[in-house]
Amino acid sequence: MSCYMCLPTCDNCRPKMVTCPSCGRMTPIDLETCPLCKQPLTAEAKEQAWEAWRAKHAPSP
Ligand SMILES: [Zn+2]
Ligand SMILES: [Zn+2]
Repeated sequence: MSCYMCLPTCDNCRPKMVTCPSCGRMTPIDLETCPLCKQPLTAEAKEQAWEAWRAKHAPSP
């Protein structure tokens, strides 16, 4: 977790995506509102996306 925007291919620096709970499409996780359906991206949806990201990139022992 020490790098920031180092490489476009770096998983750690790549923009995180969240599945919009309203329309089901992927949007950047740092948005407050889905740009496609204009519905708010819920904290639950973001937390789910973070959980999935952590499970993939930082598997717990
Ligand atoms: Zn990086
Ligand atoms: Zn949406």
